[in-house]
Amino acid sequence: MTVCSGCKKTFPLLKKEEKCTRCLKKQTAKSVTELEKYLNAVQCLGCSSLFKSLAGILCGSCLAAGLKEDDFTEQKLDSDDEEDRKEAASTKGM
Ligand SMILES: [Zn+2]
Ligand SMILES: [Zn+2]
Repeated sequence: MTVCSGCKKTFPLLKKEEKCTRCLKKQTAKSVTELEKYLNAVQCLGCSSLFKSLAGILCGSCLAAGLKEDDFTEQKLDSDDEEDRKEAASTKGM
């Protein structure tokens, strides 16, 4: 279990002391459009990879690695995504 130092979410398959994919992408996004794309993407709760859509909460490789969606039921709520969108909106017009 590794906690992302950016969003403080726990990703079992995240490498130690690494940020999750969304936080890394947010840092490297060159435009608001790009940033919003990452914020609107679905994040796998196992490895933190971003997808346009995901059938469940885990991607194929996490399921293949033996992770089970049942283990993540408590993490399903993404309450802080709302904050991220405000953040993106406030950078508009620059
Ligand atoms: Zn993160
Ligand atoms: Zn995954």
